[in-house]
Amino acid sequence: MKPPSFAYARPGSLAEAFDLLERHGEDAKVLAGGQSLIATLNMRLSSPAVLVDVTGIPGLAGIAAAKDKVRIGALTTHRAVERSAEIGATLPLLAQAARHIAHVAIRNVGTFGGSLAMADPAAEWPACCVALDAELVLASRAGERRVKARTFFRGLYETDLKPGELVTAVEIPVPGKDHRASFMELARRVGDYAIVGVAALARAGAGKSGKALTDVRLAYLGVGPTPMLATQAMAAAEGKPAADAAAAAQAALDRDLKPTADLHTSAAAKMHLARVLTGRALAALAA
Ligand SMILES: Cc1cc2nc3c(=O)[nH]c(=O)nc-3n(C[C@H](O)[C@H](O)[C@H](O)COP(=O)(O)OP(=O)(O)OC[C@H]3O[C@@H](n4cnc5c(N)ncnc54)[C@H](O)[C@@H]3O)c2cc1C
Repeated sequence: MKPPSFAYARPGSLAEAFDLLERHGEDAKVLAGGQSLIATLNMRLSSPAVLVDVTGIPGLAGIAAAKDKVRIGALTTHRAVERSAEIGATLPLLAQAARHIAHVAIRNVGTFGGSLAMADPAAEWPACCVALDAELVLASRAGERRVKARTFFRGLYETDLKPGELVTAVEIPVPGKDHRASFMELARRVGDYAIVGVAALARAGAGKSGKALTDVRLAYLGVGPTPMLATQAMAAAEGKPAADAAAAAQAALDRDLKPTADLHTSAAAKMHLARVLTGRALAALAA
């Protein structure tokens, strides 16, 4: 199907974008990589009167690594994150996750900020940002505010973004040198959205019976309306060697996750897969 007709604007500055968003209100939609939005227009799930293409605004793309945090501009493509040496060195969780996002042609165009604004519960970046305790930088004519990824996602495709507001960047604290990362997901085919996935981080130190995991963080995709931080499972795994940590987290997981069935997978199967991935991810962190 073809999209309904719409007007198109390509502002050259944030101020111009805010003007357009204010003038057109709910009739306007922000266009970044278009890899989700254009599909929803083609399927007539959305019919904005004006598309405000933000890709001409300077300063919204790029990766800047400082000592303790990395700033990723909203227009940075998935592929740029995947191929960035700085990301590989400081945030390997993102480098691992990027490979699971769609196909290269889509990763070449789709953007980091667009994925967060879209808030698909099966998307990789939202779960990674929750695990990494990232902060989103949101801007509007009123100024800038910062929101933790852990509170940004409000519900199914629903975020804390206010009318007239844009995601301009994401700031991610760099985990310590002894932290390890593991991203795992199961999808029906390479490039499909995940059925279930987990973004896992922990510090792996020496313990009496193997490497004890501390600062354990587990964020899941595909098992709820938003990315889910599994705080009970994290607490259960804390301070334990990998095998014990996995068993404890798996046992606690149903206190965190209440997956619902989708077209392909029952709720019970999703829960089972989440437990399997938890075991594998925690083992990988201690390997
Ligand atoms: C076949 C296919 C498979 C895919 N598989 C996956 C997958 O496995 N995993 C995955 O995560 N994604 C997948 N995607 C989606 C892809 O990652 C998109 O790039 C991403 O979801 C949205 O980014 P975008 O830049 O294309 O945003 P757009 O499509 O341009 O916009 C998406 C939404 O975000 C809003 N928006 C965009 N940027 C901003 C901003 N800076 N501030 C405020 N609002 C903004 C738009 O108004 C729109 O509502 C797939 C897409 C396709 C077509």
